Amino acid sequence: MKFSVLSDSLEKMELTTKRLELTDILVELIKKTPKNTISKVIYLIQGKVRPNFEGIELGIAEKLVIRAISKSSGITIKKIEDDYNEGGDLGKTGASILEQKTQTTFAAETITLERVYDTLLKISKLEGKGSQDMKMKYISSLLNDATPVETKFILKILLGTLRLGVAENTTMDALAIAFTSKKENRELVENAYNVSSDLGKVAEILATEGINGVLKFNTSLFSPIRPMLADRVKSEEEAIKKIENKFAAEYKLDGERAQIHKKDNKIILFSRSLENITKYYPDVVEKISNSINANEGIFEAEVVAVNANTGNFLPFQELMHRRRKYKLEQAVLDYPITVNFFDLLYYNGNDYLDKSYNERRKTLETIINEDNFAKLIPMSIVKNKEDISEILENSINSGCEGLMLKVLDSPYRAGTRGNNWLKLKREYQNELGDSLDLVVVGAFFGRGRRTGKYGTLLLSSYNSETDTFPTICKVGTGFTDEKLDQLFQILSNKVTLKKNPRIESSMNADIWFEPELVLEIVASEITLSPIHKTGLNMVRKNTGFALRFPKFTGKIRSEKMAEDASVGEEVFTLYKNQKKTDID
Ligand code: AMP
Repeated sequence: MKFSVLSDSLEKMELTTKRLELTDILVELIKKTPKNTISKVIYLIQGKVRPNFEGIELGIAEKLVIRAISKSSGITIKKIEDDYNEGGDLGKTGASILEQKTQTTFAAETITLERVYDTLLKISKLEGKGSQDMKMKYISSLLNDATPVETKFILKILLGTLRLGVAENTTMDALAIAFTSKKENRELVENAYNVSSDLGKVAEILATEGINGVLKFNTSLFSPIRPMLADRVKSEEEAIKKIENKFAAEYKLDGERAQIHKKDNKIILFSRSLENITKYYPDVVEKISNSINANEGIFEAEVVAVNANTGNFLPFQELMHRRRKYKLEQAVLDYPITVNFFDLLYYNGNDYLDKSYNERRKTLETIINEDNFAKLIPMSIVKNKEDISEILENSINSGCEGLMLKVLDSPYRAGTRGNNWLKLKREYQNELGDSLDLVVVGAFFGRGRRTGKYGTLLLSSYNSETDTFPTICKVGTGFTDEKLDQLFQILSNKVTLKKNPRIESSMNADIWFEPELVLEIVASEITLSPIHKTGLNMVRKNTGFALRFPKFTGKIRSEKMAEDASVGEEVFTLYKNQKKTDID
């Protein structure tokens, strides 16, 4: 397949911000793609070469790309840097520099998508001595044969700046439309994605076997399953209303969720956002097999930092000390952990997702041999408000955040949030006092102490139906100088030239960011707002929700993706539960 088929579609996608139009362009592209190339196209439109969980990243430095452009064009590095500083987009700069050159040389060879993909994959795997030069040569060889439009997109993919606003949801819509004619099939496509976390693989099966292939899609070891999520409730009463019969109450621990895949002695850990986090937990790799009485399985556990002497749980922040590149051995000694199992998704060749909670938990109890390092999360069966209150108190006294309440006969619904799991946290029992996880989408420059730094951040919730990020508030309090510096560093890599089409805002921020970073925010009240877009029209026409007196708690939720942020319905629930509202 010619690479120009893809680059022409990308060019069209860049010109629109409407989800339906993006979907149409994608459908057309998918239909033009041969079966054995479809997975490559799906990865490339997302700016990747492999699914996220494989941890293969392109992320080529600008300097290297500039050297490659210089090598292919014969133009000096200084001149390319000047042009780039003027235009602000290295993809476009490269394209226009090479355009001047192609006018003076013979037409180059037609470049195929397979060649671009294979070269990018090779580049992503190069490391160590001499790898920078090799990468530069590979890039330059592609640029020698690429047209200006092709150059622009090859560079954007390499630099990680291909920002089209096509999220997974849009891609799944397009796959369902392109390969099957029925709308209900969208759900089957999504199910396959939920158990494999690999849209390229789903697309390939659709292309070769059609919807029947997707129906047979199974869980497989070392391919992470998208996690099941919980709805929140504010009180024991609310929980009882939502789940009528008896149900399981588990302690809710404040650590990091880990999906542990095991086959014999091979152990891989995936985070909640499906990143491979095995390297941070060499102690788990070394010790956990002793506690698992099964040759193979996929387990869910909460990894929690503990006090070495007492074994007591420590807060999440302690665990994050392990997220470092250097001196990890020391961090493993300084920040000991326990692994607390709570679910079983696959066991010795059998998929457990469709089995009931009850059966999964019972089997889990037979597999895990508890010791000082591996534990089962405490669980009790509860029937009424009093039972829940008692266990909630025990859980909080042992340093946990609250409870997870789980319906006994519910299957494991990968990738979905619903009433089969409810979380009841301690703070929810206060008035509003609740925290929300919100995405940083923009910023306004500060004055005084914060000159040069962002003074106020613009935050959004997530709308899973439209796959957008509607704004909810501006926040300027709760930032220590140290946190402000840290945020400035993180956010400076996320700056975009124009607002990402997935951000819904009527405010004009001084600077826009790729919606990626999630912060924990508390507020005193939820009010109705004509400005903000979260929960628009839910209570009143043309009106959304805003947070009053929002404050950053200091917690950067690095384990969450933007799509894991709080949603409009959660804000609506909090709004309804406030004492004085006008909708009761
Ligand atoms: P939240 O991050 O507030 O939405 O809460 C959900 C998170 O709680 C999960 O992603 C897990 O990391 C964590 N968690 C702690 N204990 C449990 C448990 N017993 N069952 C499920 N998740 C738990």
